[in-house]
Amino acid sequence: MDGSVRLEELVMRFGDFTAIERTSLTIESGEFFSFLGPSGCGKTTLLNLISGFLTPSEGQVFIGGEPMAGVPVNRRPTAMIFQNLALFPLMSVFDNIEFGLEVRGVDRKTRRATAEHLLALVALEGVGERRVTELSGGQRQRVAIARALAVEPRVLLLDEPLSALDLKLRQHMRSELKAIQRKTGITFIYITHDQGEALTMSDRVAVMSAGRIQQVADPMTLYRRPATGFVAAFVGENNRIEAKVIERLGERVRLDAGALGELEGHVGKEAGLGGGALVSLYVRPEQLRPVSAGASGPTLAGRVEAVHFEGAALMVQVGLDGSGERLRVQLGSEVSRTFADGLAPGVSLTLGYDPAETVVLPRDDGSLVDAAT
Ligand code: ATP
Repeated sequence: MDGSVRLEELVMRFGDFTAIERTSLTIESGEFFSFLGPSGCGKTTLLNLISGFLTPSEGQVFIGGEPMAGVPVNRRPTAMIFQNLALFPLMSVFDNIEFGLEVRGVDRKTRRATAEHLLALVALEGVGERRVTELSGGQRQRVAIARALAVEPRVLLLDEPLSALDLKLRQHMRSELKAIQRKTGITFIYITHDQGEALTMSDRVAVMSAGRIQQVADPMTLYRRPATGFVAAFVGENNRIEAKVIERLGERVRLDAGALGELEGHVGKEAGLGGGALVSLYVRPEQLRPVSAGASGPTLAGRVEAVHFEGAALMVQVGLDGSGERLRVQLGSEVSRTFADGLAPGVSLTLGYDPAETVVLPRDDGSLVDAAT
């Protein structure tokens, strides 16, 4: 059996409330796949449907091509790592890792050999005799991974396993998790509300909002070509400018942005971008750069309102002329060194951008849910 997971026409209702809208999706065997979305969007529910803790209201889950209807949690080729890890604190690391094998009647010698192999895999050799309470947060995390891998799952389900760790350790564990996934070739299905985690580790990410998958894509595509307003606002930072389509020229769209003048952007969706359509133009803060007033290409004129030093970059808030709109502009160290003296509040600034690095989406695509909720 391979480690592919297929969701077919899956629906999950709790009473009158639909937690998962009709969803079909295939996760490839050996893929690092993340579900990313704000709290309450249905990530845990989806994971529970795959693991078998929940039974779908409609549709089916297939693992390795086999239907999972009626297959209980402990008979599925999955293992789960929870947010709180659910380790046995007073037991030794060995006993924690061997627990699932003991339940399955594996003999002691084989159990220990497996545990030692897995401790090496998660770079924890030599701690097998210690109690879990004697380990650091990062070490516990690795024990939880080793324990989950001990039962040789085809699919490992991870429910925000890094959220309890401090920032440095979290970042370190991202690369560790990714490396373990590569080494084992097991399908990892990871759920998180942290876009940094999803983007750095995943082969593909499904962005979810209110029980619905908004977009499934590799991290770079999600970032550069968000398919809905929700994704544009939720993944990374984005400036949004309201406009009306003047005309479409292949992949380019010419826009009338009222007092901001004529702008240009890249087609983000095939439908809904005809002449006269109301749209939003999304421009990332790092795509905007100061240019001279007469520069060719689309420009935005405004006044610096605030400048924040953020270490590797300067974040400049610009109030646009003729409208109440504000843009956030991120200047890398090279640009900010050149312009630093001219960036005090009150200074006029003309900003340019490459239309190819923007996205134009219909304003009424039904997915302009406030990403902050
Ligand atoms: P979080 O990141 O906060 O864990 P989530 O994206 O994992 O959120 P879910 O736990 O899957 O979200 O919940 C999705 C929605 O379904 C929520 O509105 C939640 O209140 C609802 N829900 C989940 N489980 C149940 C249940 N057993 N009965 C009723 N409603 C439920």
